Amino acid sequence: MNYSRFITQISQNRKPSLIRELYETLTNASPELVFMAGGMPNPQMFPFQAASITLKDGRALTLHPKLMNDCLQYGPTSGYPPLVKHLKTLTQKLHDPPRWADTELIVTSGSQDGLCKAIEMMIKPGDYFATQEPCYTGTLSILHPYSLRYVPVEGDREGMKPEALRAALAPWKPEAARDAVDDVPKVLYVNPNACNPTGVSLTEERRHEIYQIASDYNLIILEDDPYYFVQFGDIKDYPPSFLSMDTDGRVLRFDSLSKILSSGIRIGFVTGPKPLIQRILLHEQASVLHANSLSQVLVSELLTLWGEDGFFKHTQSVQEFYFQQRNAMVKAAEQHLTGLCEWAVPTGGMFLWLKVNNVPDTWDMILERALKKNVILLPGKAFMCDQSQPSTFMRAAFSLITPEQMNIGLQNLAELIREEMTL
Ligand code: PMP
Repeated sequence: MNYSRFITQISQNRKPSLIRELYETLTNASPELVFMAGGMPNPQMFPFQAASITLKDGRALTLHPKLMNDCLQYGPTSGYPPLVKHLKTLTQKLHDPPRWADTELIVTSGSQDGLCKAIEMMIKPGDYFATQEPCYTGTLSILHPYSLRYVPVEGDREGMKPEALRAALAPWKPEAARDAVDDVPKVLYVNPNACNPTGVSLTEERRHEIYQIASDYNLIILEDDPYYFVQFGDIKDYPPSFLSMDTDGRVLRFDSLSKILSSGIRIGFVTGPKPLIQRILLHEQASVLHANSLSQVLVSELLTLWGEDGFFKHTQSVQEFYFQQRNAMVKAAEQHLTGLCEWAVPTGGMFLWLKVNNVPDTWDMILERALKKNVILLPGKAFMCDQSQPSTFMRAAFSLITPEQMNIGLQNLAELIREEMTL
């Protein structure tokens, strides 16, 4: 693929940082190399000696002085090499990208950092932008300052509707849109599994159709998939990722460790075509230099200690926890909201997306009156491209609360909705 039409002038103008590029050479440097290029502080002057972190299973992760040096020192922009190796092995195993030789991976400060940089690489003010709607609020906050012309695509219980995507793209002819640089959508944002906020996943059939449409229109797919490991059911039955079907080289996949290891650790990674990852890397070189070293070493050591079996055992326990939470939430919703709201049972993740019957807009109800009822959730409008329009939806998170709190919260919500209906 020729990627030049996807890359904005700002991104094209980025130049490699000389120091950062030389730094990459350190990874395989001979011990005889006298490195006088970088401005690296001497870690002997750092006050930390060693660390040991106790895991919940009782085992300890020990960061001895050499590892401590890696934790505290600057590192390569692409990521801490042992961690990159782990993540590549995992990605190859789970997604088996068809163009692996042309695929690269970069560690970022959470997937939000990767998304932000991918968008800056491809989007300029006033561009068209195709996205699922409702859309993750964090993506909307990245997009907002660009004053975009959104091409929103609606979904249902099976995720984004391919026919809605075709209809949304109908103003453009694929043959003309394919190579045009301006005034055409070039990017499609999708949150395929346990979507935030709808909680549902795209079916396999729809993924193939959407990929085909992206191919017809020459779109880059931004596959934002932080809930991959929080899908309910057997991992062997998970639908294929867009990355795994990417024969063209048009998918940038965003993974996150936030939902399974720690959100505060701020580790995510972006996988995709080398020329695009290279542009993200240049931006990373110029901004944060690299993701937090301590976090990267910690995760890498954890993955080594656990091995593949230990990692999957852990992700399964995370998934089972949220599965129980989901079941309790749906039970509470059935008890208190039947007749008042409609919902699809989440296929993963941590959200229940509620459509309220007979309340035309949930915004004022939630922001002005919900707190008085001791319940708070997010109004649907926050997930819409055009926030001047009313929304009858709202998003309830079930990740942190107990089944008792779910009962009380949804009972309070039911009272609020009943009062609202009589307003
Ligand atoms: N994308 C989606 C859909 C999310 O829900 C989140 C987290 N709320 C992110 C991206 C950002 O995740 P991270 O913590 O990895 O930056």
